[in-house]
Amino acid sequence: MPRTLVTGGAGFVGSHFCDLLLEKGHEVVCLDNFITGSRANIAHITDSRFEFIEHDVSQLIVIDGPLDYVVHMASPASPPDYYAHPIATLKAGSYGTHHTLELAKNKSAVFLITSTSEVYGDPHEHPQPETYWGNVNPIGPRSVYDEAKRYAEALTMAYHRTHRVDTRIARIFNTYGPRMRLNDGRAIPNFMHQALNGLDLTVYGDGSQTRSFCYVSDLVDGIHRLLTSRVTEPVNIGNPEEMTLIEMAEKILQVSGSQSKIVFKPLPEDDPRLRRPDIARARHHLKWEPRVDLETGLRATLDFFKQHMESPKT
Ligand code: NAD
Ligand code: UDP
Repeated sequence: MPRTLVTGGAGFVGSHFCDLLLEKGHEVVCLDNFITGSRANIAHITDSRFEFIEHDVSQLIVIDGPLDYVVHMASPASPPDYYAHPIATLKAGSYGTHHTLELAKNKSAVFLITSTSEVYGDPHEHPQPETYWGNVNPIGPRSVYDEAKRYAEALTMAYHRTHRVDTRIARIFNTYGPRMRLNDGRAIPNFMHQALNGLDLTVYGDGSQTRSFCYVSDLVDGIHRLLTSRVTEPVNIGNPEEMTLIEMAEKILQVSGSQSKIVFKPLPEDDPRLRRPDIARARHHLKWEPRVDLETGLRATLDFFKQHMESPKT
């Protein structure tokens, strides 16, 4: 039975990934300090192969026993979260990546880092292939996240080249689904919260900026395929179906049947204009592509938020 450490396992993506690993027969050690995650995300897991450790990845990590895989997901990921925790975000990407790489080296485990489309910044190439080096403002408010992830990728490749650690880099594009926090500040939870409560939907800027949204079950399937592959180059994992934020707001109004209106608010600094993954590498090496269509994914997410609003403890 493979034994896998998942840092950030009590977060949105991490908790779904722990579920998938248990389904695939892994023993799972989940490590989290709940800075942006919650106990509720893992409360449903009663499996004896699941162990939880409350710990900050920026501090030295000691895990007893063998590990076959180390998956480093711990980091604030929503823009309002990393604006609120700028130094903790830099530390999760720097010290956290260093500690988890050391652990993978010492345990001879495969290492995977969840990087991000933010390494491309406000891109000059569209769609973004993994060969694009990006356009990131190194001192802007988003830099605490973008540069932490760029550093994390550089450190991962250095451990791969210097210490021969078997590494993987997943560049994740915007993902949504159940267990996002209704108040995490990202576009889909904001729009859903607003639609369900009869509030105006807040579109930032003129809403012509684009994103490509991937449902969480597709994402964790892609991460698992990458983990168990032999691909050490970065791989984009995302849904290439691109839309403007106005289109997303309208879609959420339609799916929820809400009568709310759309209003416009200032665009955050350095907000990327366009974002769409080129997933040729994932298609070729992992035989992966997203399968869940937008309407199905949005309905499942909306159902989760409705239940969550009715009984906030679940
Ligand atoms: P999330 O905030 O829901 O989850 C992050 C988890 O990491 C939380 O449980 C949090 O408590 C934990 N964490 C943060 N700092 C920690 C620390 N120092 N020590 C221990 N635990 C810590 O975010 P998410 O959307 O699930 O993102 C998970 C990963 O995927 C992140 O690495 C993020 O950068 C990456 N990612 C996510 C998306 C997306 O759209 N969701 C896109 C690109 C990349
Ligand atoms: N956005 C928006 N209204 C909101 C929240 C976000 O228009 O209430 C915009 C945001 O400016 C960005 C896009 O939606 O252009 C996606 O934002 P999100 O925070 O979900 O993810 P990002 O891609 O910025 O990490």
